[in-house]
Amino acid sequence: MKKVEMNSPSKGIWVFGDYRHYFQNRVTLQLIAKAKTLAQRLGAEVTVVVLGERVHQYAMEYVAHGADLVMVVDHPSLKNFQVETYSRLVAALVEDYRPEVFLAGATPFGREFFPRLAKRLKTGLSTDCIALEVDAETQLLLQTTPAFGGELLAEVITQNHRPQMATVHPGVFEERIHDSRAVGRIIYPEVEIHPDERVQLVSSRPEQSKKGYLENAAVVIVGGRGIGSGEQFQSLFDLAELLQGEVGATRPAVRAGLTGEDRLLGQTGKSVKPRLLITVGTSGALQYTTGIQGSETIIAINRDAQAPIFEIADLGLVGDARSILTLLLEKLRKRL
Ligand SMILES: Cc1cc2nc3c(=O)[nH]c(=O)nc-3n(C[C@H](O)[C@H](O)[C@H](O)COP(=O)(O)OP(=O)(O)OC[C@H]3O[C@@H](n4cnc5c(N)ncnc54)[C@H](O)[C@@H]3O)c2cc1C
Repeated sequence: MKKVEMNSPSKGIWVFGDYRHYFQNRVTLQLIAKAKTLAQRLGAEVTVVVLGERVHQYAMEYVAHGADLVMVVDHPSLKNFQVETYSRLVAALVEDYRPEVFLAGATPFGREFFPRLAKRLKTGLSTDCIALEVDAETQLLLQTTPAFGGELLAEVITQNHRPQMATVHPGVFEERIHDSRAVGRIIYPEVEIHPDERVQLVSSRPEQSKKGYLENAAVVIVGGRGIGSGEQFQSLFDLAELLQGEVGATRPAVRAGLTGEDRLLGQTGKSVKPRLLITVGTSGALQYTTGIQGSETIIAINRDAQAPIFEIADLGLVGDARSILTLLLEKLRKRL
């Protein structure tokens, strides 16, 4: 592999470029923005690593969003994201250039890829982080992630091993505005590509759901465990239809089979930023609120006046979900 000199290779911050569903999934761009502020404190550069076929356009996009350097490995056999091949190639790049920090979005691929990569590199990994900072004294990366079932937030440091690796929840950081005049370097390191032969992609087809329907909705109605039954959950769809919105759910509601995994909000689900979010029968666990914190206005319905969800709600209704929903539907049907 040919080495290319970088300004501060031992201090660089790397971001894995997950460009699939580029217009819906902005987490790589959000990470570049955050890496940029962290890099200023470390006196380092931000590098995005991109693997795939004909990915030059993404490299240009990453520069426009703040990357100082984009490292591209372009090859037809890298067209599909393949965890074994990607781990081997990226591990080789890391060993060559030795970045200080390596970040990826907690996308389905990032969640599979980064643990394998960390294992290969014999370093630590914090998953689903919701904050990142640099310690002023030690210059170590402070990786904040929910722990012990969300009961507390753990601040993790990787003291002895490199790189300091973390996956980050989508929607936590803001992306920078696209600047087509931004200047960055794009390099193509020489790597030996041997696609993993044990795993072969035979075929693939897109998921049959409307992509981005929840993430882009102006109104979102969420049902939690307190919604009780499937019949009650259906009334959330009635409310969403009246308000031209979409329906989301917490983990217990999905686990109870009230709706599909594609409607899950939170740390392990989607993040939404609607103008109005009505959350019904949800307690306000951190793993859930992580996914709704970008909402403009939150209305919470819960029978327990002490439920933590009221701490983040703009308006709280204390009472039984079924009675309040019935009343709300009745009133809205008369008005609309
Ligand atoms: C690693 C990890 C990742 C996780 N990721 C996610 C995630 O991505 N998304 C997620 O949602 N969860 C996630 N969880 C689970 C999370 O910790 C909570 O358990 C979950 O969010 C709670 O869902 P809930 O609020 O619906 O249920 P509960 O916490 O059980 O709350 C139910 C609420 O409903 C109220 N209620 C009950 N009956 C009524 C009624 N008749 N009328 C009105 N209110 C009523 C209760 O007062 C209570 O406050 C994760 C957990 C872990 C450990």
